[in-house]
Amino acid sequence: GFRMGIVGLPNVGKSTLFNALTKTAAAQAANFPFCTIEPNVGEVAVPDTRLDTLAGIAQSKQIIPTRITFVDIAGLVKGASKGEGLGNQFLANIREVDAIAHVLRCFEDGDVTHVEGRVDPIADADTIETELMIADLESLERRLANLARKINAGDKQAKEDARLMNAAREALEAGRPARSVTVAEDDRKAWGMLQLLTAKPVLYVCNVAEDEAASGNALSARVAEKAAAEGNAHVVISARIEEEISQLDAEEQEMFLAEMGLEEAGLDRLIRAGYDLLGLQTYFTVGPKEARAWTIRKGTLAPQAAGAIHGDFEKGFIRAETVGYDDYVAGRGEAGAREAGKLRVEGKTYEVKDGDVLHFLFNA
Ligand code: GDP
Repeated sequence: GFRMGIVGLPNVGKSTLFNALTKTAAAQAANFPFCTIEPNVGEVAVPDTRLDTLAGIAQSKQIIPTRITFVDIAGLVKGASKGEGLGNQFLANIREVDAIAHVLRCFEDGDVTHVEGRVDPIADADTIETELMIADLESLERRLANLARKINAGDKQAKEDARLMNAAREALEAGRPARSVTVAEDDRKAWGMLQLLTAKPVLYVCNVAEDEAASGNALSARVAEKAAAEGNAHVVISARIEEEISQLDAEEQEMFLAEMGLEEAGLDRLIRAGYDLLGLQTYFTVGPKEARAWTIRKGTLAPQAAGAIHGDFEKGFIRAETVGYDDYVAGRGEAGAREAGKLRVEGKTYEVKDGDVLHFLFNA
């Protein structure tokens, strides 16, 4: 599955946010309960009202949302790349995630100590990014030194491997994160294998005071500017409020949100922003037994999409009966869509679209 790592300096609200996320997921997906894999790892349901609509039409007995994993990565402090705090453990954890949710303290509260003694989310973001850049640079230098020996021995593959590493090193030495490097389509895979921390996309989570959850504040506005300039994403939430909301039932939640002037829970926005950041999209399988959402990367072809369900579906793939979400709703189901001529039979080269309702035919 896809994983987002929650990082941030101490006392910015990471645990508060993580607790809220995991409680809400349990409430949302009663028949697919939140499961704790480790104390700091949780799977959360991706909120998607389309799934409920489809289940209503097909009168599905069960609704199974798709999920993404959040990992609470504690212990990043200034000096982490030098092994301070939980340093190395932290870096190992963060290598394993697909994207980073970076929680930034944007709330003033004299009772909550800031590690640097002042509230400045831009400086905090730089502190963490700097640690990650140092860690990347050190790991690249180590690996390049190893490759140098192989290159001297005439190893062509080693020379090829060094090319991307050098591009990353150049950026980092100029004070830019690895994600600033433009990577050719053909190099994407090898680039991903480098597992550079600063190549991962970042979602800044501006943690604002309770009464600023709807409006944001001057600090979160600065983070928004920074995110836009970097090509990263941001969301504004109040972790404290989210924690309160996560303890309410669905009806109470709606009233509470309306009172606060919020259209939806910040966590829903956070989960969806993470989903977008990861370049993910959803397709559905719908029947009387269950309506289920599946996660794939944008651009995935039908056989690989089938593989999200089971490896055998991919191996024995024959074709996919396909109805677009809007056509399914307009036809009030598959039969209606078929009558309207909206059911397509797609083959191995079909690129699955977000919202497609799919039925796979395959050789067992
Ligand atoms: P972590 O160290 O990043 O995991 O931070 P915690 O989640 O433990 O939060 C640190 C402290 O800040 C706790 O006392 C929280 O209650 C408090 N806190 C978190 N979010 C907010 C917020 O939005 N407003 C205020 N006033 N306090 C918050």
